[in-house]
Amino acid sequence: MSYFRSDLTNLPAYVAGKPGSDPSIIKLSSNEMPFGTLPAVRSVLDRDLDTLNAYPDMGAVAMRKAIADFHGVDIAQVAVSNGSVNMIEKIVDAVCDPGTEVVMAWRSFEAYPIAVTLAGAVSIQVPVTDDGEHDLAAMAEAVTDKTRAILLCSPNNPTGTAFTHTELEDFLGRVDSSIPVILDEAYIDFARLEDPVRSEELLQSHPNLIILRTFSKVYSLAGLRIGYTLAQAEVAEVLRAIATPFGVNTLAQAAAIAALGDTDEVRKRSDFIVSERERVLEALDGLGYKIPRSQGNFVWFAMTDVELFVEVANRHLITVRPFAGDGVRVTIGNEEANDRIIAAAKEYSQRG
Ligand SMILES: *Cc1c(COP(=O)(O)O)cnc(C)c1O
Repeated sequence: MSYFRSDLTNLPAYVAGKPGSDPSIIKLSSNEMPFGTLPAVRSVLDRDLDTLNAYPDMGAVAMRKAIADFHGVDIAQVAVSNGSVNMIEKIVDAVCDPGTEVVMAWRSFEAYPIAVTLAGAVSIQVPVTDDGEHDLAAMAEAVTDKTRAILLCSPNNPTGTAFTHTELEDFLGRVDSSIPVILDEAYIDFARLEDPVRSEELLQSHPNLIILRTFSKVYSLAGLRIGYTLAQAEVAEVLRAIATPFGVNTLAQAAAIAALGDTDEVRKRSDFIVSERERVLEALDGLGYKIPRSQGNFVWFAMTDVELFVEVANRHLITVRPFAGDGVRVTIGNEEANDRIIAAAKEYSQRG
């Protein structure tokens, strides 16, 4: 359409997992949790259902306080958003001028290049290693005087790999502190590393670090659209100022507080996903696949022949997420779903 900027005509479409119409098919294409709404969340939603004539708390004060307490940071360091993708777009837009650059790993989250293009900037995509890991050394070298931000994703969607605290600290030491480093930790609750990133600690020593979290994954609230950001107080203040007014709705604010408080159930859910992920990875190893050691709630099959894999998966009544020419991402689901992943992978490996 002619009234849009010419650089937006080739914007890659964000491909959402197909919604399931057939109840016998299990959707493993959007990294959703296989559990329903947390019981603790359900009860606060009921409580607030009759107050929807009023606008939500503009400052999301109670929600921000709960997040600050959860992370042991000051409430001034917290900003909230209508999903974390919304905040990614806001930050990138706020730091980029037309023609400037944003460094990211690739493949990584497909929402990143869309946000960068929307801001009129250019994505500098640094290939992940053969093991699907961020090549942090190459990313530090890709920084130029045009760089306005660096986007990191750990665990990385779609390859699943995560970097350690030491690796991130080394990287931050190499990057000029005038460049914001945006760390997307959407899947951090599924990571079980020896040396996990302690992001709150790094926030103290690295004022250019901006941390993104979401309620869409382990908290099983993708349908309610809630994300948040931790940063230096001065940075978070700007993020609150540029946020869409009333972007986080009343139910979402209440749900976020309840979800953060339900630590036992949330831990149970993440432990289940982790143990099933390890079971699937072990089975795939046994079938001869070389799958990156995922730290997320999904596994990554690097392959060029994605269409055939998708077809085999569909025959086993699971939908998966293809990335043309690169590979297929498959969400870890309930036990039955994961048995189907293994069965489909087995059939695919014995093809032809
Ligand atoms: C799922 C996901 C998110 C969450 O986005 P929301 O807008 O909060 O639902 C963020 N980053 C990555 C890499 C994701 O995969």
